[in-house]
Amino acid sequence: MSELPYPYEAPVSQALFDRAAAVTPGGVNSPVRAFRAVGGTPRFMVSGSGAYLKDADGREYVDLVCSWGPMILGHAHPEVVAAVQEAVARGTSFGTPGEGEVALAEEMTGRVGPLEQVRLVSSGTEATMSAIRLARGFTQRSKVIKFAGCYHGHVDSLLAAAGSGVATFALPDTPGVTGAQAGDTVVLPYNDLDAVRAAFAAHPGEIACVITEASPGNMGVVPPLPGFNQGLKDLCAANGALYVSDEVMTGFRTSRAGWYGVDGVVPDLMTFGKVMGGGFPAAAFGGRADVMAHLAPAGPVYQAGTLSGNPVATAAGLAQLRLLDEAAYTKVDAVSQQIQAMVSEALTKEGVAHTLQNASNMFSVFFTDRPVRDYDDARAQESYRFTAFFHAMLAHGVYLPPSSFESWFVSTAHDETALQRIADALPAAARAAAEATA
Ligand code: PLP
Repeated sequence: MSELPYPYEAPVSQALFDRAAAVTPGGVNSPVRAFRAVGGTPRFMVSGSGAYLKDADGREYVDLVCSWGPMILGHAHPEVVAAVQEAVARGTSFGTPGEGEVALAEEMTGRVGPLEQVRLVSSGTEATMSAIRLARGFTQRSKVIKFAGCYHGHVDSLLAAAGSGVATFALPDTPGVTGAQAGDTVVLPYNDLDAVRAAFAAHPGEIACVITEASPGNMGVVPPLPGFNQGLKDLCAANGALYVSDEVMTGFRTSRAGWYGVDGVVPDLMTFGKVMGGGFPAAAFGGRADVMAHLAPAGPVYQAGTLSGNPVATAAGLAQLRLLDEAAYTKVDAVSQQIQAMVSEALTKEGVAHTLQNASNMFSVFFTDRPVRDYDDARAQESYRFTAFFHAMLAHGVYLPPSSFESWFVSTAHDETALQRIADALPAAARAAAEATA
C-alpha cells in the first residue's frame, strides 16, 4: 500500500471505537458496521452530503453504501431536509393518527399495484415479523419456507438459515433462538423450484407462506433466475400458501415500483423499509386487502407500535418518494452501470477473476469467475481478495460495504466528480486484490 494518498490510520475513529466498545457490545449497534469481515477500524462518520461522507478524522469518502440502501437521493438532500425540519417543528410524536402516514401509504399503494393496503412499522425486521404472523393467522398454518442466503431481519424464526437439502428443518443460526422457534422454518436453496415443490409435497396443508427477498441482496446480489418468482407464486397459489415478497432492500430502489416493477410477479404480501423511510426508521408491510383485513383492529391478528407512522419519519419518506420520478431511476441506473464497468475493467486489467451481478442499480462483485446463483456459490468466492480490495478503496477515499456478501448502493448524487474519484482509486485496489493471498 505504498501509493496511499494519506496516512491510512484513523486515530479519532479508533479512539471512538475504543470508547464505544466499553459501553456497547462490539462497539457498534449493528454487527456488520464493526468491520469484522474485513478487519481494521470502522470509520465513525460525522456528516454526509450528496455522494460523500466525512469521518471523525476529517477524511471524505465517496459513499457506495448509502446507509445500506435508503439514501437513494444522496445524503442531506435539501428537499428531504426541509420536509423533516418542517415536520419536527410541528412536534415529533403524537401517538394518534396523522395525515402524513395516510399520504405515505397512498404514495406507496399508488406506485405498487398489488399493494392494496399497508401498515406502517419502524424497521424491516418488524415488517417481516408481522407479515409472517399475519400469513400464519390468515392461513391458520404454522410452517414458513425461506431460502438460504436470504436475510429478512433478525426475526427469531427467520434467523434459521442453516440446514441444507430439500425440506431440511432448520437449525437456529444463533444462540437465543430455540429449536421450537426455528422448527417451523423450512430452509431451501435459492433459485431451486424443485426443492420448493418437494417441500410442499412433504408438508401438505402445513405451509403458511414462502418468504423470499424479491431479488436477494444479502448474499451479494443474486437475482432470481427467469421464472423463479413466478414459480414460487404459482406453487403458493396451488397449495393454499401466501407468497411474501420481501422488498425491504429492493422496494422503491430497483424501480419506481421496486422489484415488482421489474418482474411483475404479484405477491400476496410485501414488506418494505429503507428507501421509503428517507433515512428515518420507517418500514411497512402490506398487500391483498382481504389478507390485511385480518390485522388488528380490523381483524384478530395483533400488531402495534408506539412510533409506527411517526410524523417525522413519514415526512422524510414521503418527500424522498415524491422526488423519485422516472428520471431519478434512470440516473441511478446509469451511475450504477458506469461504476460496474469501471470495476470490471480495473479487475480484468489485473487478471482478477470476478463476476459482477446486478439487479437494476443494485450490484456486487464476487471474486469468482462463475455465476452466483445461490448461497453456496456466493460462499465459494475468494473473499480474501475482497478484503484487500476494500482496504485499498477505503485508503483512496471510497467507502464500500465492509463485506463481500453485500450489495453496493448508489444515488442520484453520484456525479462525474464522484465517479472520477472511484476511477482513480480502482487501479491500486485491483492490484491489491490481484496480489492478495488467502
Ligand atoms: N429484509 C431485507 C431484505 C433486508 O435487506 C433487511 C435489512 O437489511 C431487513 C429485512 C431488515 O430490515 P431492518 O434492518 O430495517 O430491520
